[in-house]
Amino acid sequence: MSVARAELVVDLDAIEANVRRLAAAAGPARLMVVVKADGYGHGMVPVARAARRAGAPWLGAAVLEEALALREAGDTGRILTWLTVPGEDVRAGVRAGLDLTAYSVAEVEHVRAAARDTGVRARLQLKIDTGLHRGGATETAWPAVVQAALDAQRSGEVEVTGMWSHLACADEPDHPANGAQEGVFARAVSVAEDAGLRFEVRHLANSAATLVRPSAHWDLVRCGIAAYGLTPDPVLGTATELGLRQAMTVRSHLVLVKPVAAGEAVSYGHTWRAPRDTVVGLVPLGYGDGIPRHASSGPDGRGAEVLVGGRRAPVRGRICMDQFVVELGHPADGGIPARAGDPVTLLGSADGAPSAQDWADAAGTIGYEIVTRMRGRQQRRYVGAHAEEDTR
Ligand SMILES: *Cc1c(COP(=O)(O)O)cnc(C)c1O
Repeated sequence: MSVARAELVVDLDAIEANVRRLAAAAGPARLMVVVKADGYGHGMVPVARAARRAGAPWLGAAVLEEALALREAGDTGRILTWLTVPGEDVRAGVRAGLDLTAYSVAEVEHVRAAARDTGVRARLQLKIDTGLHRGGATETAWPAVVQAALDAQRSGEVEVTGMWSHLACADEPDHPANGAQEGVFARAVSVAEDAGLRFEVRHLANSAATLVRPSAHWDLVRCGIAAYGLTPDPVLGTATELGLRQAMTVRSHLVLVKPVAAGEAVSYGHTWRAPRDTVVGLVPLGYGDGIPRHASSGPDGRGAEVLVGGRRAPVRGRICMDQFVVELGHPADGGIPARAGDPVTLLGSADGAPSAQDWADAAGTIGYEIVTRMRGRQQRRYVGAHAEEDTR
């Protein structure tokens, strides 16, 4: 018999259910499921297939290689990408029928040239910066970008399919930036439509805005984190309260269980010292596998927790590259009566298991980073009614 040392299990049924939930929340707007960064660490292709089956007409990918990998895996639906560097060869994207994004006149011209080169009409969307001050054309530059897109469309080389923007504070529903960005977006839509552009999709909302801000829905919403069953931010509610189920489970087995005497310290730097005789367990995963070292416990013993024998066991001392230590406590003293080889769940949606958000809280980061960085020596495994066809 062989036991998986550590595995990362992705529940594709959970992804499907989350996608259906988001499609319902978005309606009548349509849904894009964002599968960038290897599907937020869940595996891009299986997630994309589950999302399509659940009825997502659009997929979103940050960079061209991601979208081209989806095409290679057989995806024939609409896919938007939005991040290239000047001079990057986008011809493969044009040939593959991707919807590319331009932030500037130079990018419109670059896509137009790629269309001319390939003899394929390019699908292009325009991005306006409404206040995130990351990608996108400034409001001042917008009319020129619109004009360049109109010219490219009249030449027949480009089909302008959409315009969009991205919110800075959608996970803070009362933040004034939300209304301000919506205002800039509406103005930019008017400028473009008055100039003669007609968009198939105008879009602004991410997961948080999809769930709590219908005024930002427009024609299409772009959901990443919620599709994976994480809350965009705990202030919006837990995943469960939002009707979502975390798709990722990370689990392993205790390598070793042994006593630590009162006064003895644990792991590098001896940052945690046992206040009483206790029992600890060794977990064979570390920051080399994406477990955040920031979730180590400090001297006060506060850090992440794992699930052993149906109960929570706190991380003690520093998380190392390959392993970390959890405190089980003395069984005679109400501790967890665990033994070497017992299963341990680091995160998951099972009863009592820590969520990705719990790890984010312990590490001082966001759930997005926890799941996206969760890669290393875990064996990835997919479960769900269609897992076999999704991973073929
Ligand atoms: C990542 C990303 C999204 C998805 O955001 P979530 O908060 O994960 O829903 C949407 N739009 C753009 C442009 C993105 O980069």
